[in-house]
Amino acid sequence: MNISVLGSTGSIGVQTLDVARMHNIKVCALTAYRSIGSLEKQAREFMPDIVGVLDEKSAEQLKISLSDTNIKVIGGKEGILAAAQHEKADTIVNAVVGVAGLLPTLAAIKAKKNLALANKETLVSGGSIVMNEVKKTGIKLYPVDSEHSAIFQCLQGCPENSLKKIILTASGGSFFGKTRDELKNVTVENALKHPNWSMGKKITIDSATMMNKGLEVIEASWLFGVSDDEIDVLIHRESIIHSMIQLKDNAVIAQLGTADMRIPIQYALTYPERLPSPAGELDLAKIAQLHFAKPDYETFKCLALCRQALRKGGLYPTVANAANEVAVQMFLEEKIGFLDIGEIVEKALADFTDNRQDITLEDILQADRETRIKLGDD
Ligand code: MG
Repeated sequence: MNISVLGSTGSIGVQTLDVARMHNIKVCALTAYRSIGSLEKQAREFMPDIVGVLDEKSAEQLKISLSDTNIKVIGGKEGILAAAQHEKADTIVNAVVGVAGLLPTLAAIKAKKNLALANKETLVSGGSIVMNEVKKTGIKLYPVDSEHSAIFQCLQGCPENSLKKIILTASGGSFFGKTRDELKNVTVENALKHPNWSMGKKITIDSATMMNKGLEVIEASWLFGVSDDEIDVLIHRESIIHSMIQLKDNAVIAQLGTADMRIPIQYALTYPERLPSPAGELDLAKIAQLHFAKPDYETFKCLALCRQALRKGGLYPTVANAANEVAVQMFLEEKIGFLDIGEIVEKALADFTDNRQDITLEDILQADRETRIKLGDD
């Protein structure tokens, strides 16, 4: 099997390469935004045909560093698109952060590549277009997000139409159990301390606000063809059950494992095979107890807002996602407080009045762009 890894220097990208290393999977292309130090090391180990670097200046530097090899370095969006459509790749791993992953996803589908999708914003913002293209081309779309991989795993062997609802588990992030008052002055450092998972900054902040779970509700609705009222969110602090499905007879099936993304990544690459994994074994006797609770939709309003955006449909999820991407960046730069993230998403949705349901890619890109401009992001 041959893969391209988009976003190879991020958390998911690095863990994808762990899996590739273990199973001798050929890596045809690597891409990153501008982490050329890590990218050079990865390129020298995996010897891909091409390396894409979004930042043009960094691409020029990497060209010089890799000039003793045959690796072709391509700068700008062209590099990512070339990696997404590489002729030798069977599967494209999309681990780009944010809606920037949408166009590479569509390019990969059009080139008839199977997709291992870690970039949830692609489906949140462009779900209708992406799922349409998947259907048209017949490519396989494998979820990498741990919850969605869990649901996908639980569904194996279940007859079509047997699904009653999805139970999406949530760790609750860094601030579970806190009140709005207690969250007023939390710092970036506090928010970046996730209890179970080691992840990139954007998703760790999204976990702390529970926006991540909201985005995952929307992602699940596209992947599994379910509506908002067929998805329950359940707080499960230990992150051992990665999600569950309830079938029509009320049987519940869960997928469990250590909090190690290399399990869902590998399953997306080797489906339906089950191969040895670099992830460790689960020791339930040692964990002893698993806990569950209802989410607090008032304190963590991003979760409620995403559900509202899903129910409204059309461009609302795009707007919620774009506003959140800008707000998270502002929070990381310490320009706004933690609770402002939810306020910004709420206002962006309230100000949006375009109720069209039948939307094009251009509509999505425009709504995304306009939301960012309104928030002062260029
Ligand atoms: Mg997840």
